[in-house]
Amino acid sequence: MTTATSGTLLANGSRIVIKIGSALLVDAATGKLRENWLATLAEDVARLRARGQQVIVVSSGAIAVGSKALGLGPRNTLALEESQAAAAFGQIGLARAYQQAMERHDIRIAQVLLTLGDTERRRAYLNARSTLTKLLDFGLVPVVNENDTVATTEIRYGDNDRLSARVASMVDADCLVLLSDVDGLYTDDPTRNPDAELIPQVDAITPEIEAMAGTAGTDMSTGGMVTKLEAARIATEAGVHMVIAKGAVDHPLSAIEAGGNATWFMAHDTPVVARKRWISGALQPAGTIVVDAGAARALSQGRSLLPAGVSAVRGRFDRGDAVIVKDQAGTELGRGLIAYASDDAARIAGHKSGEIEALLGYRGRDEMIHRDHLALNRAAKRTHNAEAGQSTAGAQTSET
Ligand code: GLU
Repeated sequence: MTTATSGTLLANGSRIVIKIGSALLVDAATGKLRENWLATLAEDVARLRARGQQVIVVSSGAIAVGSKALGLGPRNTLALEESQAAAAFGQIGLARAYQQAMERHDIRIAQVLLTLGDTERRRAYLNARSTLTKLLDFGLVPVVNENDTVATTEIRYGDNDRLSARVASMVDADCLVLLSDVDGLYTDDPTRNPDAELIPQVDAITPEIEAMAGTAGTDMSTGGMVTKLEAARIATEAGVHMVIAKGAVDHPLSAIEAGGNATWFMAHDTPVVARKRWISGALQPAGTIVVDAGAARALSQGRSLLPAGVSAVRGRFDRGDAVIVKDQAGTELGRGLIAYASDDAARIAGHKSGEIEALLGYRGRDEMIHRDHLALNRAAKRTHNAEAGQSTAGAQTSET
């Protein structure tokens, strides 16, 4: 695949995370935000949203803006509490700049500050995920940064490359764009070796690829190529494509779509993702399961389909066959592998899982379709989430 065709990955994804580095957003000499550049980025974001894509921005810049304004030295010379104070001050200006740039396109933003713990502890992770999803449902653009003010040295990301990859995997994004001061991964350091070549596509992060990543970072940014490769590993293993491209051009997203210089890291399917892809794409469904509104909502929150939520069973199928799952209006919600043959499925439909043994004479699975065997249509997922006014508590119980 050439970079030109890879550009379609950005054009086609329905959920896109864009990471913007400090070096792009903040003028090194003055510490001022580059508002003209931000305006072109906002135009790009508006264009993506106009074609139905959801966008999350992960932006650095708080410390860079704050430290300059407070008369502090370069970032790598700051004591922890100085950079935390700078972040607290700079974050306000950062949020305001995004708000102003996006407002011109009638886009509302919301600020989300995360710590490492918020993405590592299961409960906090699920909370953060449902908040981000809710903001997207509301039609907002979440603007995420690390909560630098409270993060301590030992337990912080310190760079937004890896944070943005965790966010992308958390929200099940299709594509993560790292806008950077470099235009991709080179075979060697291009500032020192004129023969260094850009690698347009990486299918696997091999030791050879790792060896190509130097440790260089600019004065303002923390993430060199090493943290970008770590981000690529997190993203691609979660099924998210990632691209590194130069951000210091006007309309940087359009430039990627036009096939400009970039390195694409191709997503790997996780076993569950691979199975779901197979379920949704490659099978001839043998029947249809109609579910009630409560079950449709539960499915949209990532839960399994229980017999209690099934209102009709159509067709003849065996245990393990693929079936279509529809809501009562007849809209296809997704496809899944069913744990019961059609006769048994019809018998237990509408009943609690605890009644299965009494009804069938054997103790089958509690779930009619287990969530790992259910490939939900993304659109259905969103509609039901939006209608549900999904509570955080509900989402927390959806995965354990
Ligand atoms: N969170 C930091 C800030 O806003 C930036 C981290 C990074 O450079 O990636 O200044």
